[in-house]
Amino acid sequence: MKPAAFEYLSPTSLTAAVEALTNTDGGATKVLAGGQSLMPQLNFRLAHPTRIVDINGIAALSEISEADGLLTIGALVRQRTAERSDVVRRACPLLAEAVRLIGYPAIRNRGTIGGSLAHADPGAELPAVAVCLDAEIVVEGPAGERVIPAAEFFTGPFSTRLADDEILTAVRVRSAASGTGAAYEELSRKHVGFAMAGVAAVVRLDGDTVAEARVAVSGVGTTPVRANRAEAALAGQAPVEKAIADAAAAALEGISPTSDLHASAAYRRHVAGVLIRRALTSATTHARENR
Ligand SMILES: Cc1cc2nc3c(=O)[nH]c(=O)nc-3n(C[C@H](O)[C@H](O)[C@H](O)COP(=O)(O)OP(=O)(O)OC[C@H]3O[C@@H](n4cnc5c(N)ncnc54)[C@H](O)[C@@H]3O)c2cc1C
Repeated sequence: MKPAAFEYLSPTSLTAAVEALTNTDGGATKVLAGGQSLMPQLNFRLAHPTRIVDINGIAALSEISEADGLLTIGALVRQRTAERSDVVRRACPLLAEAVRLIGYPAIRNRGTIGGSLAHADPGAELPAVAVCLDAEIVVEGPAGERVIPAAEFFTGPFSTRLADDEILTAVRVRSAASGTGAAYEELSRKHVGFAMAGVAAVVRLDGDTVAEARVAVSGVGTTPVRANRAEAALAGQAPVEKAIADAAAAALEGISPTSDLHASAAYRRHVAGVLIRRALTSATTHARENR
């Protein structure tokens, strides 16, 4: 099927792009980034905007930079670029771990970091990464820039706090300290399929104890869920097998998924527990390697 007709604009500045989203004569607009989710939606006529604003010509959105302990990744940075970036691997090992699980290379060559966050698929990896790291989502609209904490950005499946006339411009995370390890574990029904559940985990070691643990789980709610109980249970502990298993058990007390056609609530919960254990174990191993 082909998309319904739409007006196509390709501004080369952020100001012009926001303007194109604002002055719409009442029609629906959509931002086009990598097109890996939007184009199928258009072709299946699940989305029928009257105007597409292609932001691929705005070079400033494709930058990765690090300053004052903050890593900033432009919205248009391709997933494959982030995957191969030495800066990202060092400053944000969780993103480097997670992004390679997205689809396959052809998807990641076009798909963008900002597009994945804006699309907010509940099975996607990057929203869980953003929530796990307390990322800041930077957006630009007619009133200028605003910064939305990741914990507030995702409001439901395919739904965020982005207004129709706003563009996600960048995501910012604190650079990882030494002694930090990260892992992303997920279960999919088929290779490169969207995950049934996924777990983002970061462990920072101080000597032989956990100085900080961060865990976020996708697929067990309408948005990624932070597993605060696991984090609190592991902080200050030696990350031995029992402590990690106890942390995973503690996390499950705060997780109550629903059943759907892919899995029952009980199975999803079980999978989440296994993945939390695996992700924390693997993040601990990487943290030891990074001391
Ligand atoms: C076969 C296949 C397998 C895939 N597997 C996975 C997977 O395993 N995990 C996963 O996470 N994803 C997967 N994806 C989706 C992929 O990651 C997409 O790249 C991502 O969801 C959207 O990024 P995009 O840059 O392509 O955005 P687009 O498709 O261009 O846009 C997606 C949505 O976000 C909006 N948008 C995009 N950028 C911005 C912005 N800067 N500001 C405001 N709004 C914006 C668009 O308007 C649109 O509504 C898969 C896709 C395909 C086709």
